Amino acid sequence: MRAALTAVIDELKRLKAGGVKSIPVSEGTVERLRRQILSRSDRTQSARATSVPPSAQLQSTRMPAAAVDSTPPEHEGRVASGRTTPTTPVTAKKLPPPPVVVLPQGSKQSRWDALLAMVTADPVCKQHVGTGKKVVLGFGDLNARIFFCGEAPGAEEEIQGEPFVGPAGQLLTKMIQAMGLKRSEVYIGNIMNWRPDMPGMSSGQPQIGNRPPTEEEITYCLPYLRAQLEIVSPEVIVALGSTAAQGLLGYGSFKTLGEIRGRWKPFAEKPVMVTYHPSYILRNPSNRSKRAIWEDLLKVMERLALPVSDKQRAYFSEK
Ligand code: URA
Repeated sequence: MRAALTAVIDELKRLKAGGVKSIPVSEGTVERLRRQILSRSDRTQSARATSVPPSAQLQSTRMPAAAVDSTPPEHEGRVASGRTTPTTPVTAKKLPPPPVVVLPQGSKQSRWDALLAMVTADPVCKQHVGTGKKVVLGFGDLNARIFFCGEAPGAEEEIQGEPFVGPAGQLLTKMIQAMGLKRSEVYIGNIMNWRPDMPGMSSGQPQIGNRPPTEEEITYCLPYLRAQLEIVSPEVIVALGSTAAQGLLGYGSFKTLGEIRGRWKPFAEKPVMVTYHPSYILRNPSNRSKRAIWEDLLKVMERLALPVSDKQRAYFSEK
């Protein structure tokens, strides 16, 4: 078995080096691999297998076409963040009604601190984070003019307790810098405060892959997002990807992200610019995809009367 696992890992590394970001694997195979990896009698294999870089990890379902082919952004479907919708139905624990969040009076910082305490103490949030992992609240300048809203924490975020600190976060930071801003000058949050678990996982298992949150999960966390918006009171919100857009604009309010991206929509009396999730660019690093997000960000800059140089305006234009 050791040799077989080593061969699988080597093959994954080879595929990754060749640019393959994910591969379709049946649920049964994932389950068998998981059992082997985690079997107590085979600790060595476990250590080696779990050290496979996240981008080479096995996906338990087929990646949506938008994630694997070169479909132009305009035709992209619902999935935009690189998460996969599991074929096994998500039997997320039945959640209680969403929390009623009442912020205390006081400075922005004291209100944010109170909110962090509420989220951290929330039993439902606590129930969804594994041992040693953290509930994730947004982070950044509480006087920010721009509030970026993503989907849900991933592996790195639940360890650090901060949104967008993994590969997608590094790209988001570059996007913010391309706008002539620093990451510390904006606020970055997520629709979700915990990393949605994968179906079939038992407690204590290291999580392989990410899935998009369910409508119920999003509904539960939404009051925490609203509270952050109340504190920061940004001039604009940038919804990154379809889950963020669905959370903010409502389920069923659009069919494909291409339908609504690049347009201003309202949420909580704030204008929302819907664009692609940075993970989309990680999977489709073409100038065309980058230009699509960039055009949306140019609209944000124009709305805020931020300076836009000719060089900035031309970023990622096809020559
Ligand atoms: N993707 C998200 O949507 N949010 C994060 O915090 C990280 C990755």
